[in-house]
This record gives sequence, structure tokens and C-alpha cells, in this order.
Amino acid sequence: MRISRRIILFALVLGSALALIFSAYLLASRKAVEDIRLAGERQLQLIALDLESVLERYETLPYSVAYLPMATQVLAAPHDGALLQEFNLTLQDLQQQAKVESIYLMDKDGKTLASSNWDSATSYIGKNFGFRPYFAEAIKGSGMGGVAGHFYAIGNSTNIPGYFIAQAVYPSGSKRGLAKPLGVIAVKISLNTFEQAWRSSEEPIALADRHGVVFLSNRSAWQYRSLGALDQVVQQGLQQTLQYAGKRIVPINSLPKAERAGFDEYLAHPIGRLGWQLMLFPAQSKVQRAGAQAAAVASLLIGVLLALAGVVYQRRRRLEEGRAAQFALKHAADELEQKIAQRTLDLTLGNEKLEAQLHKLTEAENLLRTTQNDMLQTAKLAMLGQMAAGITHELNQPLTAIRAFADNAGVFLARGNSEQAGANLQHISDASARMGSIIGQLKGFARKSSDALSVVDVGAAIHAAAALLRSEFERQEAQLELQLESPLESPQGSQIGATAALVLGDSIRMEQVLINLIRNALDAVEQSRIKKVSVILECDADVVCIRIIDSGSGLPEQVLQHLFEPFFTTKPSGRGLGLGLAISSSIVQAMNGQLSAQNRAQGGAEFVVKIPAMPAALA
Ligand code: ADP
Repeated sequence: MRISRRIILFALVLGSALALIFSAYLLASRKAVEDIRLAGERQLQLIALDLESVLERYETLPYSVAYLPMATQVLAAPHDGALLQEFNLTLQDLQQQAKVESIYLMDKDGKTLASSNWDSATSYIGKNFGFRPYFAEAIKGSGMGGVAGHFYAIGNSTNIPGYFIAQAVYPSGSKRGLAKPLGVIAVKISLNTFEQAWRSSEEPIALADRHGVVFLSNRSAWQYRSLGALDQVVQQGLQQTLQYAGKRIVPINSLPKAERAGFDEYLAHPIGRLGWQLMLFPAQSKVQRAGAQAAAVASLLIGVLLALAGVVYQRRRRLEEGRAAQFALKHAADELEQKIAQRTLDLTLGNEKLEAQLHKLTEAENLLRTTQNDMLQTAKLAMLGQMAAGITHELNQPLTAIRAFADNAGVFLARGNSEQAGANLQHISDASARMGSIIGQLKGFARKSSDALSVVDVGAAIHAAAALLRSEFERQEAQLELQLESPLESPQGSQIGATAALVLGDSIRMEQVLINLIRNALDAVEQSRIKKVSVILECDADVVCIRIIDSGSGLPEQVLQHLFEPFFTTKPSGRGLGLGLAISSSIVQAMNGQLSAQNRAQGGAEFVVKIPAMPAALA
């Protein structure tokens, strides 16, 4: 649909353009024809004026010469050589002054007696021109203009064409026209200068006689050719008067094409007294050239207009496209905005949901933490319960000693042995201090730990755990060996040495882990022949590693699989809850560490605690 419309539009534009170009061609051609005609007429008029003025200028010359007394004298005495010669010189002088071809005198029969060209090889003297119409007309006094004879012809002796004006010579004192003429004075004028002047004209110019014979033209091929076919009578007349030296006159139309080129329509202007016609042949090529130029200009103009229209159309299209693009962009922007608003809403809703979930999660976590804390506490208390027997024994021992020392001190005092009594009192003080320390450690262990992180000296924690379990080891006659890389107690008695193994965490929980692992090891060696538990502390820049090795029977496969599961225990009820390892593992993990267990090649189990060492920079 769109394409066919475009084709129609294109055809219309093309058709209009062609019509315009053709009209321009036609109009310009028509105008050119008119212009050329006008220009031609103007040119023709100028040439005609020039030609006629020349012809007229010499009209009176033979008339004046005929009045010279010498002319009549010569005619009266045609054999007077001296007189003739004098007249010859006079005529020559006049000819040179007047700038004519020749001036000569003929007797009443047409025989030339004297001539301006007397000294030339083609002198007229002795020649008879009685056959020339101008002579006959002059002698009759019936030439055109009343008395003069006129003629145009090719010179009989000189072969030079010329215009002849002749006047009769009358006896001196007689009245002109009434007396019988004695002879005739003729003046010959050359028109060759015109021919030369016309050469500069591009268009053919021709001067034809009343029969239509061209005798002067800037196209040399046309000279002595006729405009149309000549009839027999005219041809014969021309032969008789030798007007054109007896040349055979053929029509221009019969010439070869190249020679008759330009022989077309012509403008004509009458000249002189002999029925001559001056003709100008306007160049038809000029018309075509003008038409072609106009067509070219029109084409150019149309081209420029079309180009302009194209540019305007393109601009308009671009503007429209720009507007459409802008609209599309705005539409897209609106859509995007809507989408963003929708997304924002979705996100806000999602965020609210997430916040609600987070809130629930936080609540759950808090619950978990309190539960975990409760559980840890429960496990700890359970452990205390289990340790109760040992602790009771631990406290009972100094208590029994205190009682014994007190009883004995009473006896010593009664005996007056105050020194011994004093020593006993010192023993009592030491024993009670020892009890205080045990109770202090128990208090510390039973206390609820906080979530805050602090620096934990692992060596100190091992010692504290060992202290709480010492009485139990003694009771079971088991050996607890501690191999700590950095001896805790330096000679100066400072608690934490420079090379202490430090980790970040909670010291009570650390102790809880160690007590649990050492207690399990003690339980494992209960039935063994050799009852030995070793706690080895090793540390480097990155990791603090505690290994609890026992001489027990090791970990059976089905125990290894469930070792860290809560409530997994192989111990009879009342002795184990199955929470110890599960809780210990989670405490170690909370300190970014790891708790693992394996059987040793030489028998017994080995529990390994690995915790990242506190960076030296923080220590
Ligand atoms: P509980 O001591 O209350 O049973 P634990 O989680 O501390 O709970 O231990 C789980 C089980 O792992 C114990 O019942 C025991 O069977 C086994 N176990 C723990 N430590 C050792 C060990 N050193 N040697 C052999 N078995 C052990």
C-alpha cells in the first residue's frame, strides 16, 4: 500500500518535472526564435543601411565627372593622344581620391576612350561595353533615377565583380536630357569589403539580384547561385549581358549538403534601385541551443527544488522520528517508573515480611540461647552432682584433720604445750584455707557464665579443672599427668607467662569442656589395669591444641558414630546424661574451634580440642 503510493508519487513528480522541462524547452525555443528574428532584423537593417549609404555615396560621382569639360573635349577629339592621356590621369586621380574601383569614359557606341586603369594590364581602354545594360540605360537617359544607368556584374576584363553607375556626357552648354549624348562616364564600385565584413557573422548573409541570383555572400559556395530555379529567359539574358561572366547559375538547393548548410528560412530587406534583396539566414542551431539551455536550467532548478524538497522531507521525517523516539522514550520511562514503583512496593512488603521473620528468628534464637544456657547449666550441675562424692571427700579430709588438730590442740594446751598447740592451730588454718579454695573453685564453676568474650588462659583452665577432679583421681588411684608447654607457675609465681596459650572465649566454659573430657577419661580407665590420663597442651602461633589421652579400652565403632549426639551414653543411669560431649563440642565450635575423637594405636582414646590462638597483637 505504502510502496504503491510512493511509486505513484514518484511518477507524478517525474511526470511534472519532465513536463516542466519540456515546457521550458518550448518556451525558450519560441522566445529564441523571436529574439533571433528581432536580432536578425536589426542586423539586417544595419547592413542594409551601410550598403545603401555606400551605393548612394557614389551615385553622383559619374554625374560630376560628366560635367568635366575635358570629357566632352575627349569625346570630340578621340584621337588626341595628349588630351586622352591627360584625361586618363585626371580619371586616375579622381578614382584614387574617391576610393572606387575604376572610372572610365566610353563613346556613344560603348568603346572606352579613357580610363583610370589606363596603365594596368587589364585596362579598359579600347574595350566596348555597349552590351552592358548600364551603358544602354545611360545613353538612353532612361536609367533608374531618371538618367543614370546601374548594374552589378563581374568585370569583363578584370574579372572583378562590381557595381556600375553610369551617366551620359552631353555637349557642353546643352540641356541635359534634351541633347543627344556624346558618350558615357561609368564608375565601378567594389562591394568586396562588405563580403569581408560579413565573414565575421556566424549566420549566412547574402545579397541577391532581382532574379534571385546571389552575387555577394559570406558563404562563398552560395556566390553566383540562385535562391530558386531560374527560367530560360532569365538564363539567356544573363548570358547576353555577361553579368556573371557567363557562369552557369544553379540553385543553392542543388548544392551538396555541407555547402548548402544554413540555407533555411531567411529575413529579407530590399536594397538599391535594382530590385536587390539582402538576406539573413538566422542560425536554427541557436534556437535549439537556447531551448536546450532553458531545459538544462529548468532541470537544474527542478533538481535543486527536488533536493530542497528532499531535505525538507528528510528533516520533517527526522523530526517526526525524533518526536516518536521521544514519545517511546517517555513511554518506556513511564513504564519503568511504574515497574520500579511496583518493585519498590513488592520489596517493601518483602522487607516487612523479612523483618517479621527476622524478628521471629531473633526470638527463636533468644529462646535457643536461653535454652542452651539452661542446658549448659543443667549439665554443669549434673557434673557437680557427679563430682559431689569426690568433693565431699575433698572437704571431709581437711575437716577431719581440723577436728583432729583442734582436739589435739586442746590436749596440748591442757598440758601447757602451747608451742605444739600453736603448730596445730597453724595446721587448722592451712586446712581451712584449702577448704576455702575448693569451695571457691566450686562456686566459680557453678556460676552462670556470660556470653561476653574474654581472654582465656588454657593452661590455667587445665589446672583449675585438674584441681576439681584431683580427689576423684586419688580415690580411684588413677594418675593424672599434665604436660603443659609453658609451665604455668614461673619461679616468680606469676600466673600467666609470656608464652601462655591464650584463646578468646569464656574461661568457665573452657573449664567445663576440660572437666568433662578428663572425667570421661577417668571413667574410661576405671576398669583398666593401668589408670592414667594425660592432658597435653601444645600451641603455635595459630592454634592451641589440647589432647586428653587415656589408657582405657578406647571407643567402640558404634560409640564413635554417635559420640557427639546429645543423650548418647553408655553409662548406667545416674552416672551419665549423654550431654557432656555434645555440649563440649558446641562450646568449642562457639570459640571457632573443633573437638574430635579417635582411638590410639597403643590402646585408649584420644580427644583433641583445637582452638584458634589469640593473635599475638591482642595478647
Ligand atoms: P556421659 O559421660 O554422660 O555418658 P558423654 O557425652 O560425656 O556422656 O559421653 C558419651 C559416651 O561416650 C560415654 O557414655 C562413653 O560411652 C563414651 N566415651 C566418652 N569418653 C570416652 C573415653 N575417654 N573412652 C571411652 N569411651 C568414652
